[in-house]
Amino acid sequence: MNAFSPGAKSNRPSYDYLIVGAGFAGSVLAERLASQHGARVLLMDRRDHVGGNAYDEKDAAGILYHKYGPHIFHTNSEQVVEYLSQFTGWRPYEHRVLAQVRGQLVPIPINRTTLNKLFGLDLETDEDAAEYLASRAEPVADIQTSEDVVINAVGRELYELFFRGYTRKQWGLDPSELDKQVTSRIPTRTNTDDRYFGDTFQAMPRDGYTAMFERMTDHPLIDRMLGTDFRDVKDDIDAAHIIYTGPIDEYFDFRFGKLPYRSLKFDHKTLDQEQFQAVAVVNYPSEEVPYTRISEYKHLTGQTHPKTSITYEYPSAQGDPYYPIPRPENQELFKRYEALADATEGVTFVGRLATYRYYNMDQIVGQALATFRRMDERRQRGGPQEAAAAAA
Ligand code: FAD
Ligand code: UDP
Repeated sequence: MNAFSPGAKSNRPSYDYLIVGAGFAGSVLAERLASQHGARVLLMDRRDHVGGNAYDEKDAAGILYHKYGPHIFHTNSEQVVEYLSQFTGWRPYEHRVLAQVRGQLVPIPINRTTLNKLFGLDLETDEDAAEYLASRAEPVADIQTSEDVVINAVGRELYELFFRGYTRKQWGLDPSELDKQVTSRIPTRTNTDDRYFGDTFQAMPRDGYTAMFERMTDHPLIDRMLGTDFRDVKDDIDAAHIIYTGPIDEYFDFRFGKLPYRSLKFDHKTLDQEQFQAVAVVNYPSEEVPYTRISEYKHLTGQTHPKTSITYEYPSAQGDPYYPIPRPENQELFKRYEALADATEGVTFVGRLATYRYYNMDQIVGQALATFRRMDERRQRGGPQEAAAAAA
C-alpha cells in the first residue's frame, strides 16, 4: 500500500497509525496494534534500520556489534520477558564491569573485592565491609543530587575515584548538578557479587537485537518506511493517529527552547587479536582519559572469531540525542512540553526521548505495553477511535 496520498484524502485514512521511531517503543506498539487490533500501521524511522539505539549488525570482519553502544538486557519484569520471548530466544549473560582506577582494574559497582584490592585490605565478611564503608561514608541528611548519593554511601575518596570524573565526562556536568537518580543506578555492595545488575532476568537476545526487531515488526499489517524523517513527510501521510517516539521538543519545533539531551560519539574498532579485555565493559573514570568506557562485544554475544571488535564512547554535547539529562530545570522545561503534548489531539508520546525519562530497554517495553493496554481498554469500551484517544 502506498503510504502517501498527497493532496487527495480519501474517506478512510491509509493507515490507522503512523508510528514515528522504530526503537523499542515504536516497534512494540506497532506489533501490538497490528496483531491485536488488526490495525494498519506505518512504522517510520529516519535511520535506515529498525531497533533504535539497540540496533546491532555485523561489521566488516563479521563480528556482531552494537552501533549505538553496548546494550545489555536485564529486567525484573516477567511480563516484559514473556512478551519479548515471542520474538527471540535468549543467551544467558551476566554483565560484569571493571573500572580502571589508580592503575588497577577493580569491580564496579564497588564491592568487598574492590575495597580489598584498592586499599590492600582483608575484609572477610559483609559486616567487615559494611563497617569499613560506614567509617568512610559522610551522611547527607537530605539526598538530592548524584553527588549526595555517593558521598552518603561511600565517602569522598571513593566518590572522586569512581564517580566524579566519569559523571563529569558523561554528562558535562558535576554530579552535584545532576538528579540523584543518575548515580543511584549504581549500587554499593558489601559482598563479593561483581555483577553489574541485580535483576532476576539477565540475558542477551540469542540472535541479536535486530533479528528480534525484524521478527517483531514482520507483520502483513505493518509497512515500514525507513530512512525517512517525520518532519519531511508529516503533511503527506494519511493516518488516523500518530504515535511519536522521537524527542518531544523537536515535535513542537523547539517552541520553548531546546530540551537538553546528551550525545555520544562511538569509535568502533576491529582488532587483529582474539580478545582485548577480560570483561565486556571497562570503565575509565579518570578525567585524564577522554572516553568513558570501552566495550568488547564478543563477551556479550558469545561469538567466536579470531578478531575482536570494541567501541570507545566519547560523550558529546552535539549529535544524536541519546540521554535525557535528569536535573530539575530540564524537568521543568519537559513539563511545559508535556502539557503541550497532553493538549495535542491524535498524537501519543511514548519512549525515552518523547517522555524524557532515563529508562532502560525493559522499562520502555513496559511503558509501551502499558500504553497499549490503555488503548485496548478504551477500545473495548468504545471502538478504535476511542482507542486512539485513550493513547493520547
Ligand atoms: P530509541 O531507541 O531512541 O528510538 C527512537 C527512534 O526514533 C530512533 O531510532 C530515531 O531515529 C527515531 N526518530 C526520532 N525522531 C524521528 C523523526 N523525526 N523521524 C523519524 N524517526 C525519528 N538500556 C538497557 O536496558 N541496557 C543497556 O545496556 C543500555 N545501554 C545503553 C547504552 C547507550 C549508549 C544508550 C544511548 C542507551 C542504552 N540503553 C540501555 C537505553 C536504551 O537504548 C533505551 O532504553 C531504548 O533504546 C529506548 O527505546 P525508544 O524506542 O524509546 O528510543
Ligand atoms: N557512573 C560513574 N562511574 C562508573 C559507572 C557509572 O560515575 O564507573 C555514574 C555515571 O554518572 C553514569 C551513571 O552512574 O552516567 C549511570 O551508569 P550506567 O552504567 O547505568 O550508565 P549507562 O549505561 O546508562 O550509560
